[in-house]
Amino acid sequence: LVSRELHPHDTVVRLGKVAVGGRGFTVVGGPCAVETEEQMRETAGAVKKAGGHALRAGAYKPRTSPYAFQGHGEEGLKILRRIGDETGLPVVTEVMESGDVDVICEHADALQIGARNMQNFALLKAVGRASKPVLLKRGIAAKLDELLLAAEYIMASGNEQVMLCERGIRTFETATRNTLDLNAIPWIKQRTHLPVLVDPSHGTGIRDLVVPMALAAAACGADGILVEVHRDPSAAWSDGAQSLYPQQFEQMMGQLKPIVAAV
Ligand code: PEP
Ligand code: MN
Repeated sequence: LVSRELHPHDTVVRLGKVAVGGRGFTVVGGPCAVETEEQMRETAGAVKKAGGHALRAGAYKPRTSPYAFQGHGEEGLKILRRIGDETGLPVVTEVMESGDVDVICEHADALQIGARNMQNFALLKAVGRASKPVLLKRGIAAKLDELLLAAEYIMASGNEQVMLCERGIRTFETATRNTLDLNAIPWIKQRTHLPVLVDPSHGTGIRDLVVPMALAAAACGADGILVEVHRDPSAAWSDGAQSLYPQQFEQMMGQLKPIVAAV
């Protein structure tokens, strides 16, 4: 089902009123996590004002430490929905458990499967039965054919609205949080009709590398990017070091303008 051989035309995924894939370059921006209503309102306002197309933020957070902030859960979803409606931006948020799929579908425009769950097959089947599109992130040690087979699980369960996302993999390199594998983009696009996004935030872990890699993502044919931005990165509850300042996000949108506007 994922194969371009059988479906030569690019799939266009409907993320609320935003079309992802085919033509166009979609910018999904927002903080790592929903922290407070004000943090979301200010950050989403910056995303909207700069020309971002959709909003991201986690209400259920996969954290390495069980003592780190785990997200506000359903309360966070409600904040995210409210801010999405206020700004007119569709919202993407992570689902970590099959049992949460329904409540997340009630509030979000797309379901994100995080890197840590790329091969959680029960979860893949559960989002495959859902009525909202899925943004599937590449696992931290997943091969590209494994990413495509994970997407196949979702599609085989009935949901054909799948977006793939390269978010960096773990290599011997420790200078950056992950190694952003841009080889993945043309490789994937030759083999599948599904849209492919790049996440230069988790891919680098370093704020000042995010914009260059966002531009690189556009250059190698990605259908869009997923970027962390925070009204005040130094005060972020998670992933502050890789979160753009609103002003950097705005500059990035300026640099991407020829690509976003060309389509
Ligand atoms: C995220 O998008 O905030 C996230 C947790 O990403 P990943 O699953 O790629 O680590
Ligand atoms: Mn994050």
